Amino acid sequence: MLFETPTPALAAAPPPAGPRVLRSLSCVVPCYNEAANLELLLPLLRAQLARLAPQWEIILVDDGSTDATAQRMTEWTRTPGVRALLLSRNFGKEAALCAGLEAAHGDAVVMLDSDMQHPPALLETFVRHWSAGADVVYAVRAHRDDESTFKRVGTEWFYNLINRGERFRMPPGAGDFRLMDRCVVDALMRLPERNRFMKGLYAWVGFESVAVPYVPEERAHGTSHFSKRRLVGLGLAGLTAFSVWPLRTVIAMGTVLALAALGYGAYLTVMYLLHGHDVSGWTTIVVSLMLFAGIQLLSLGVVAEYVGRIYEEVKGRPLYLVKRDLGQGLASGAPSGAPSGAQGVAAAPPPPPG
Ligand code: UDP
Ligand code: MG
Repeated sequence: MLFETPTPALAAAPPPAGPRVLRSLSCVVPCYNEAANLELLLPLLRAQLARLAPQWEIILVDDGSTDATAQRMTEWTRTPGVRALLLSRNFGKEAALCAGLEAAHGDAVVMLDSDMQHPPALLETFVRHWSAGADVVYAVRAHRDDESTFKRVGTEWFYNLINRGERFRMPPGAGDFRLMDRCVVDALMRLPERNRFMKGLYAWVGFESVAVPYVPEERAHGTSHFSKRRLVGLGLAGLTAFSVWPLRTVIAMGTVLALAALGYGAYLTVMYLLHGHDVSGWTTIVVSLMLFAGIQLLSLGVVAEYVGRIYEEVKGRPLYLVKRDLGQGLASGAPSGAPSGAQGVAAAPPPPPG
C-alpha cells in the first residue's frame, strides 16, 4: 500500500500563520573595477540593511578587478558585517554571484550590482513581499527605453526563442537584482552545472515568485562591462544550456533539403525519360554544392556548440577560485552551514578579520 494515513502528530501540525519575520539578510555584490561606485553604494546599502533585519551581512565579491576595488573592499571589511571575497582572476559576473551566494548565510539573500543601477531603496519592497510569503522577489525593468536598439531587439529575440516550448518561463526584463529565500539559494547551489546562466537557473528552480517593476538608475561611474560580443556569448550560453531547438532546427533543415533533392532528382529523371535531355546546368550544380556544403558546416557548428558545452562540463573545474576571504559577515553566529554545491574552491585560508 502506498498511501499511509498521517500520524496524529503530523495531521495536527498547524499551517504557517502570519507574516514571516526576517532574522538575517545577506547581500551579495559582484564587483569588477567598481572602486568609485563602492564608495557611493556601501554607506547607503549598510544603512538600508540595518533597517530591514536585525542581523545582516554584505558579501562583496571582487571579480579580479585591476583598479583599486580590492583595496577599497579590504578597507570596508573593518566595518562589522562586511565580508570580501577576492577571486584569483576575472571569472565573470555569473561566477562572482555564485561565489557570493555560496558564502551567504542569511535567511534571505539579495543580489545587486555595485554600479548604483540597482537602487538599495527597493530592498524594503523585496522584504515586504518575502514577509508576505514570496520565496523570490525580482526586479523587472518597467521599460527598456534606455537601452540600445541592438540590446533591445536582441533581448526580445532571445526570450522569444528560449521560452518556446519550455515548462518554465524566463521573464524578459528580469535580471540578477532579486531577493531569494534560503530554500531557493540552497536549491540553486545544488545545481551542479558549470555553465551558470543564472537567469535560466532562477527560472528552472521555480518557487513562489513576485515581480517588482523598477527603472534602473544611470551607472554612477564607468561603463558597462558587457560588450556586444559578450552579450552574444551570454545569449549563446543561455540558449545551449536551456534549449535544444537549434539541434532540432538542424534536423528539420536536413529533412527539408533531402526531400527537395529527392523531388528534383525525380523531376530530372522524368525529363530525361520523356525528352531525352542531356545533363546540363553547371551553374545549378556548383550553386547547390556550395549551398549544401555551407549548410553542412553550419549544422556541424551547431552540434559543435553543444559538444563544447559538454566538454566544459565534464572537465569539472571549479567555477571560481577565492584568493582571499576578508572580514566577517554573519558567519560567526550563522545558524545554517554553507550549501553543499561545492562550486568553488578557497585557494587560501581566511586571514584573521580586520
Ligand atoms: N561584473 C562582474 N564581473 C564581470 C563583469 C561585471 O562582477 O566580469 C559586475 C559589475 O561590477 C557590476 C555587475 O556585474 O556590479 C553588472 O555589470 P555591468 O554594470 O557592467 O552590466 P550591465 O549593467 O551593463 O548589464
Ligand atoms: Mg550596470
